[in-house]
Amino acid sequence: MFTGTLAVAMSQDALSRQVEFRFVAPKGATSVAVVGQFNEWDRARHPMRFEDGAWRVTVEIASGVYQYLFVVDGKQWVKDPHARSVADANGNTNSTLIVEPADYEATPAIPGDGTVTLSAVRHHPDHQDTVRKNRTEVLLRVRTRRGDVGTVEAVPVGIKAAPLRLARSDELYDYWQGVVASPSGEFAYRFRLDGATWLGADGLGPTPSPFVQRPRELPLPNVPRWLEGAVFYQVFPDRFENGDPANDPPGVEPWGSKPTPTNWLGGDLAGVTKRLPHLQELGVTGLYLNPVFKTQSNHGYTTDDYRSVDPRFGNEAELKRLVTMAKDSGIKVLLDGVFNHSGTGYAPFRSVAKEGAASPFAKFFHVLRFPVEEREGQQTYRTFAGVWQMPKLATHEPEVQREIADVGAYWVREYGLAGWRLDVADEVAPECWRVFRKAVKQADPEAYILGEVWGDAREWLQGDMFDGVMNYRWREAVIGYVAGTLRPSELESRLSTIAEDYPDGVAMGLFNILGSHDTERLRRIVPARDRRMIAATLQFTWPGVPCIYYGDEVGMDGGRDPDDRRCMDWSQAGWDFRLLQHYKDLSALRARQPALRVGHVGKIVSLDAQRVFAFRRDAGSNRVWVVTNLGASEAALPLGPGRWGVVAGKGRIAEGSVHVPRRGSAVIARAG
Ligand code: CA
Repeated sequence: MFTGTLAVAMSQDALSRQVEFRFVAPKGATSVAVVGQFNEWDRARHPMRFEDGAWRVTVEIASGVYQYLFVVDGKQWVKDPHARSVADANGNTNSTLIVEPADYEATPAIPGDGTVTLSAVRHHPDHQDTVRKNRTEVLLRVRTRRGDVGTVEAVPVGIKAAPLRLARSDELYDYWQGVVASPSGEFAYRFRLDGATWLGADGLGPTPSPFVQRPRELPLPNVPRWLEGAVFYQVFPDRFENGDPANDPPGVEPWGSKPTPTNWLGGDLAGVTKRLPHLQELGVTGLYLNPVFKTQSNHGYTTDDYRSVDPRFGNEAELKRLVTMAKDSGIKVLLDGVFNHSGTGYAPFRSVAKEGAASPFAKFFHVLRFPVEEREGQQTYRTFAGVWQMPKLATHEPEVQREIADVGAYWVREYGLAGWRLDVADEVAPECWRVFRKAVKQADPEAYILGEVWGDAREWLQGDMFDGVMNYRWREAVIGYVAGTLRPSELESRLSTIAEDYPDGVAMGLFNILGSHDTERLRRIVPARDRRMIAATLQFTWPGVPCIYYGDEVGMDGGRDPDDRRCMDWSQAGWDFRLLQHYKDLSALRARQPALRVGHVGKIVSLDAQRVFAFRRDAGSNRVWVVTNLGASEAALPLGPGRWGVVAGKGRIAEGSVHVPRRGSAVIARAG
């Protein structure tokens, strides 16, 4: 039986508070720590002490909304029974902590009452709240206290005011945003809240100084053109195919064994090469491989040598062979770079472990004190997520940045790789990515740089770091829609917000996924095939790069990590061939219809009562409608002028409308 409580006391600083966590653990517990988004889930950061029958710790936390858990004896993760639970994008449930800014208590949030809660109001005239959309327009964003303000307008000096729309809200704040024209030189503007209160560079007041910036001097993204028609496929190397039993490690388990955090099942690069025909039949043009470098873990996210292939996956020659053979099949290969942290076998870390402060690599890591102790619960060096086997690299150090950039350029230049997927990209120093981008783009200007950023990735998509991110925001919205937890209008609002958040053109580089090695399988979350087919239709037709997580195309099942990393079953026994055909149809469709590769979204139709979500993409004279119908009866959508024909899915055209059966989707194109 667990009981816990949370006490909040104000600190001197109005924007952060002393939060006391209290937790009653089962008898016999020897250690408890609190972990959450406020300490990067690091088990070592906030250990609790036992006092008066409960475990306690007080942590100063900036105002905001956080997820957290208690960790008992270093291994058991427990929710706070007294806090609200929330599901994260990964299907885990965590407890929620809301730290309100102190001044929220002073006044209630009422729109138009003449008072505005000051601490909540924010506009940074930089990438945080400004996005250069294209050559002439800029998106501005303002944050206010939730429910406190009814209208927000951007008022550029000397130009007509433009209303911002309420784009989203969280527990504490409303976020307003809108696109306005920006002059070529200096851009000066203020905001008007509730038609009466002015916000400027020096705060709220009757005539604050304007914000001033030069948005047209910001870089614009330059996403590689080949991504426009790309269809990607993600492979977890140990589980796709065992192409060479000779390289299996001792203790390898039979193909198809249940995945555990540590078992090896024999998959390798030779296996991927062997199965290239499967990818080709699917219409795949890009292959994303989870890490293949020398490692101690089956997932490869602990790198011991960034310049050699792990012998269990093959060798450098086999990687080269895979890349060459894939290229002959029209498929480019993207590798996974894990540069936030290394493995403990990484030579610089071995040097630090041996020589301590005298090591020439002492500055490569965040060592808190020498000598480093390589064990569970250690507090001598910083790690990824508190895992001692993953020492965090000091990516703010120029020397480390140079090494990472060299590795990035090396594989692209010497092996003809298409680019990089970058692990835990948001915890690496941004300057490191700028240096990395320069080096990799110098090796190949068309290289694709894809970051793992789960949330809003504006900071990384301004043209100086990444070409795209793993689009988990998109995944969450689309799965919510097909699973029935999001209304069509909510899907529209989420997809529009994602599109609005980034510069024009970035959408083409966003990696639109329905699952990965870090999530439950789509099949597990959405058991009904017809709903999964609708999700796939959206994946292949919405702007962005669709990526199939291996096995999803045949309906592979799997729960959370490590169960989402099962062996591909080449006996084809459980394969869903109807689903597989749907995926093949979709990639063929994408190849045939220019609007599905390069077209912008011209119109969106959301019908909540009928549960219909539809949109049109236009590329010159090529126009395509994608209509999805989750409703219980046939849906009809009137079409514009022209001769329209059904090019994919189920549908029929009659009396100027397209009719789509229940729980189905159709793609129709205008012929002339
Ligand atoms: Ca093997």
